[in-house]
Parts: sequence; structure tokens; C-alpha cells
Amino acid sequence: MKITIIGAGPGGYEAAIMAAKLGAEVTVVEKKEVGGTCLNIGCIPTKSLLASADVLTTSLEAEKFGVCNDHTTVELKQIIERKDKLVTGLVKGIEFLFESNGVNLVRGIGKLIDSKTVEVQLNDGGVEILVSDKILLATGSVPICPEMFHYDGEKVITSTEALALKTPPKSMIVVGGGVIGCELGQFFNHLGTKITIVEMADQILSFEDESVAKQLLRQFKREKIKVLTANGVTDVKVEDTGVVVTLTNGAILEAEMMLLSIGRSSYSKGLNLEASGIKVDSKGQIEVDERLETSVKGIYAVGDLINTPYLAHVASKEGIIAAENMLGKNKTAVHKAIPRCVYTDPQIAAVGLTEKEAQQKGINYKTGSFDFRALGKAQIIGKIQGQVKIIVDEQDVIIGASIIGPEATDLLAELTMAVHLGLTAEVLGDVIHPHPTLSEAIMEALHDVHGMSINKASLRF
Ligand SMILES: Cc1cc2nc3c(=O)[nH]c(=O)nc-3n(C[C@H](O)[C@H](O)[C@H](O)COP(=O)(O)OP(=O)(O)OC[C@H]3O[C@@H](n4cnc5c(N)ncnc54)[C@H](O)[C@@H]3O)c2cc1C
Repeated sequence: MKITIIGAGPGGYEAAIMAAKLGAEVTVVEKKEVGGTCLNIGCIPTKSLLASADVLTTSLEAEKFGVCNDHTTVELKQIIERKDKLVTGLVKGIEFLFESNGVNLVRGIGKLIDSKTVEVQLNDGGVEILVSDKILLATGSVPICPEMFHYDGEKVITSTEALALKTPPKSMIVVGGGVIGCELGQFFNHLGTKITIVEMADQILSFEDESVAKQLLRQFKREKIKVLTANGVTDVKVEDTGVVVTLTNGAILEAEMMLLSIGRSSYSKGLNLEASGIKVDSKGQIEVDERLETSVKGIYAVGDLINTPYLAHVASKEGIIAAENMLGKNKTAVHKAIPRCVYTDPQIAAVGLTEKEAQQKGINYKTGSFDFRALGKAQIIGKIQGQVKIIVDEQDVIIGASIIGPEATDLLAELTMAVHLGLTAEVLGDVIHPHPTLSEAIMEALHDVHGMSINKASLRF
């Protein structure tokens, strides 16, 4: 079986390796570096920057831990160099995995000719025609940059340019208080940039639990990050000194730079979808069935290119499922328990329904919660802010969970498994959790669903 994959982001590269492991002859077409948005300009570089910010925060608090550190300075140039080195190493890692699994990498721009043929404009000149039995499209997404924002990559930037700045700007307007806006806004704030976040919705992180978003907002206020919710941008002027932005409420903001983080859109430019008869929805996302096959038999699509959450772990899971299906299995892409992570300080992580969604669905739900403040481990590491919140249905089945606090993104795995497997709060709460760890907050929140948390402060006395 011959398979051609266009795009080597998490969707494409994981599909390629899985297909090769299952015995296929695989060729991947990639126009840039392997690893896609996630590795080169997304998940990994942002988290590398945020790891540096974490070290800065810890270093500034060193004295509280009995450690003297008088000379904390921060150099964005070095932070970026560390990030670049890390990315280069991981890119090489994927190239090595391709090699060791016998995956053929063709560097160029791929285009569909028919359901079996891909034409590649090679990066170093010339054209290569690839004929295969099955094709996987995994070309990802690009930032949304409406013309009115006058994106120029210098004063008006997206996350891509933000990840390569060598000096922090004095001030920055962040348009869009979603995950990317909050993460990068807080990062530059830690470096001394005066940040104003402008968000159309009533709350930042509009898809997350209201109480969680409010806690992050309080932290932003403490850090002097200005947040203007329920506000859109009506006009943008790029001037010599920076940008001047007019908001829907009439306010005028000025800053050295503007970061545009209002979302991403599927990228299928030049793929020649029309000629191949592949159906696309109104947002430009390729339509697929539950096996991830497009309207054209034998052509599959995954990741940011289709109508599922734009997340790396979603793309890679879909890539694996598509590979399995291309090779004769009959797997269904289930999106019931998708972890959602925000790597701000404090971190936020959630899975399943929020309380508001449970209400909207008319579910007779109960919640349990536990504050990190009451936990020995949180006190030990000096990170007491935040909470675990668990939502169960009438049968005690865990249908949602939100964590705000230390290591929230790593802690979420247990609750993702619970939602995925349909576990009850009682069953998961019976599991012995190690002490002293942050995971005890989950156990206590599970017990609190039944009013039985031992360590939750009670107001009864
Ligand atoms: C700043 C930022 C931070 C993020 N942080 C996180 C995070 O913490 N966690 C998380 O889960 N997600 C995060 N994401 C989202 C995540 O990066 C994407 O969901 C993920 O990369 C999508 O994977 P993909 O394989 O669908 O596409 P992509 O990773 O976008 O890869 C697509 C690849 O296709 C190539 N390509 C496109 N067209 C062609 C063509 N015609 N021919 C050849 N090659 C082509 C591109 O060059 C690219 O390499 C972040 C995104 C951004 C921008």
C-alpha cells in the first residue's frame, strides 16, 4: 500500500510513522520544517518561552525559599536562542524518526491532481509526481489576519513574529483574549511590556469555566495586565511610533506593537480541492466522516484542516486514526474527552463540559471542588492559588473538570481518562493518591462531590 501525506505537522507526521509501522510505503510532502505549526511556531516554542518566564518568577521569589539571588536579569535574545535550539533538536528528532521508519520526505509544495496523484513543486526546483493508493491531507492552519488590522509582521504581528522578537516592546495591545493571547500577553508582561488585552466576549478564555477565567483575570490584574472584555476593534492605524487602535466603546489605545490573536483558519490554499471534488464547509474546513475520510474515497484529512478543535493532540490522534483506517482498520474519531490546556501562570486545564454547558444541556449535575491552598504540596512549592472543580451527572459519572493552579496541565490526564472511560467520582475517588502531591487536590474534589472531602475547610463550625 502506497500512501502520500501532505503536511508534516503533528497530524501528518504521526500518521506517516503509524502508516509505516503498519507496513505502508509512505511519502510525506512538507514545504517547510517537519513538526508543523506545533513544533516550529506553536506549542513547543511558546512553552519554551513560558518556561523561561517561570524560571524568572521562581528566581524573583527565591528569597522566600531561603535562597539568595540578587542578580536576576532577563534577556529575551537568549530566551529566543534557547527556544530555537530546542526546536531545531526536536525537528531533527522527527527527521530521524522518518528515516528509521523508512518514511520518505519530499520537500516542496503538494497539490492534488486526482484521488491518487499529488504533484510537488520541489523546494529546490523541479516537479515530482507521486502516485499512491491513499492520500492524507494535513496542511494545518494559519493565523486569521483581517485586512482592517494592517498586519505587517513588524508593528502588527501574530504569534509567529512574537516568538522571534529579540527585544520586548515597551507596550503591546493584544487583540483576542484566547489561549494564545493570554499566554503570550502574560509572557511579555513578565518581561516588562505594558500589556492591554482586548477581548470581544464577556470573559477572557471564553470557552472555559467562568470561575476559572475570573481567577486568571484576578491574577492579570495583580500583574497590572489591563483586560478590556466585551470590546471589539473598529479601527487600526499604523504610525511611525506604533499602532493606534479604536475600540467599539470609543476608547483609543496606543502601543508600540499589536499582537493579533483572534484565531486561526484552516489552510488549504493551493491544494486544488475544487478540482478533486473534496467538500469544504463555509469556514474552509474539509468535511470528513467519522473515519476521517473526505467526500472523495481514498483521500483523508486531519488536524486543523477539519472541523475539530485546533489542538496538536487532536491532530496527532486523528493522524493515527486516519493511518489505521487507510490501512484497512475501521476506527472512529471520538472527540468526547479532549484536554484543553492554557499555560499561563497559574495554568488552566479542562476536559469535558463546563458548568455552563451542563446547565445549557439541562443536565442535573453536581460539583465538587478543592482549593490548592489547603494542600500540603501546594504550600511546599509556594503555589497555593487555584482550585480543582469536578462536574458529575445524576449517575455520578464525571462529565467535566477544570483545574486552575500549579501543574494543572499535567494533572489533567487523570480526569481526561475519567471522562474518556465514563468513570464515576466514587470509583476515581477510591484510588489512593500519593502524598504529598498536587494530585491529592483531585482526590479531595472527587470526595467533595459527595460532601466527604476530609481536608476541605468547612463553614459548619
Ligand atoms: C502560538 C501557538 C501555540 C499553540 N499552542 C498549542 C498547545 O500548547 N497545545 C496544543 O495542543 N496546540 C497548540 N497550538 C495548536 C497546534 O499547533 C495545532 O493545532 C497543530 O499544529 C495542528 O497540527 P496539524 O498537523 O493539523 O497542522 P500544522 O501543525 O499546521 O502542520 C501543517 C503542515 O503542513 C505544511 N503545509 C501546508 N500546506 C502545504 C502544502 N501544500 N504542501 C506541503 N506542505 C504544506 C505546513 O508547512 C505545516 O508544516 C498552538 C498554535 C499556535 C499558533
